[in-house]
Amino acid sequence: MFVVDRTESRFRQLPSVDRLMSEDKIRQLLDIYPHELLVDLIRQELEHNRASIALGNPCPPAAEIVDSICAQAESLASTGPRPVINATGVILHTNLGRAPLSADAIAAMDHASKGYCNLEFDLETGVRGHRNVHVEQLLCQLTGAEAAFVVNNNASAVLLALTALAKRREVIVSRGQAVAIGGGFRIPEVMRQSGAKLVEVGTTNLTSVRDYEEAISPRTGALLRVHSSNFKIMGFTGSAALEELVELGNRFDLPVFDDLGSGCLLDTTLFGLDPEPTVQQSVSLGASLVFFSGDKLLGGPQAGIIAGKKHLVDKLKRHPLARAVRTDKTRLAGLSATLVHYLKGEALTRIPIWRMISAPLAEMDRRATAWAQALGGPAQVVDGESMVGGGSLPGGTLPTRLVAIGKGGRKGAQNRAQVLAQILRAQDPPLVARLSGNVLLLDPRSVLPEEDTAVLQSLHSAVAGLQHNQRF
Ligand SMILES: *Cc1c(COP(=O)(O)O)cnc(C)c1O
Repeated sequence: MFVVDRTESRFRQLPSVDRLMSEDKIRQLLDIYPHELLVDLIRQELEHNRASIALGNPCPPAAEIVDSICAQAESLASTGPRPVINATGVILHTNLGRAPLSADAIAAMDHASKGYCNLEFDLETGVRGHRNVHVEQLLCQLTGAEAAFVVNNNASAVLLALTALAKRREVIVSRGQAVAIGGGFRIPEVMRQSGAKLVEVGTTNLTSVRDYEEAISPRTGALLRVHSSNFKIMGFTGSAALEELVELGNRFDLPVFDDLGSGCLLDTTLFGLDPEPTVQQSVSLGASLVFFSGDKLLGGPQAGIIAGKKHLVDKLKRHPLARAVRTDKTRLAGLSATLVHYLKGEALTRIPIWRMISAPLAEMDRRATAWAQALGGPAQVVDGESMVGGGSLPGGTLPTRLVAIGKGGRKGAQNRAQVLAQILRAQDPPLVARLSGNVLLLDPRSVLPEEDTAVLQSLHSAVAGLQHNQRF
């Protein structure tokens, strides 16, 4: 058949492995990569081309095949995740890696990873120690808790506590708090995974402490409160206060778990934000265990922190799952350094996310103006709002000044905003902006002032790219 013949002849046009191996560009790669890897990549590329030809596509020119192999080698060998500049105005952007770390935290992680460290070694006695000792002291000092334990992330903190303390028991949760947070953390599923049975009480918008009390049975293992950290229910709403749950728990001898999510140690209302419950409050109100993340409002590396009553924390430490969700030396070092900032009362000036949250509007205006000048053309500075994000302060925003491009709904504005967004993402380092309809927005609040030189560079080079495209 004619079609088959044509496909056959296209297959024959594909260069051989040897022929590709002898191409200059590929031979140059032999200085960097082993021969076997290049042969592998060539075979994979030829396989890919055969599949494409079988679908009726033409055989690409040899030069294109060579370039694709080189690009594949480069992409495999590039290290990632790559640093990007977050100009979205979302301070705790989960897709962009949540909290940037303080200089001290970075130095501590660098130190801990360079050589050996006394992770599980008591330097005084010379015998085995415990990896959590120092960070536990800090956490107890800062939160007022009797004991604390650090695991991989908050999801594993909740899973560990439910598994170790409520397996095959019922855990009572308000219907309004059986929620999903971010990618894949759903309270009902974590509960199922732990072997605890979820008992939902009350209604989505209204749950009272009476609802919990009526659901208590001999099978009840714990009461769980989950902070609605990434959404807000408005209007006719109500939930049981933590102190009411603690009183109920005490009366029935049941532990009360408080999943705070964001783990704030500072008063957010000082910055015009909604009050975010603090860890100290939960501990002092008597929660048996409080769970929170290290990389949300705490502003440290990824971690799950458990703070609370010693007899319960001790059970968690001894549970086999604790070993599976333990944290590593570098993150413990970064977390300690972050906690020390709180201890010294310098969190606002040293921890990047708190520097961003507390930065005054005048500074945003000054920086946005400089950015807009670098962009030139139709860039304007306008009022806007930054978000804390990352599963915290759902209703709270911070006033900011934004660089807006494509405002006024002019013809082609959408295209221009999208083209510019793409060009900005292609810079080195990539600059990630916010798109709002036809308008591209850049918010200096989620960018540290020391990154401004890189931002201005990216903006200048993006403008050059756009002028080249003749679309600006
Ligand atoms: C973010 C969040 C979690 C998950 O925390 P990770 O550290 O991302 O695992 C769990 N519970 C609440 C309430 C949260 O806000």
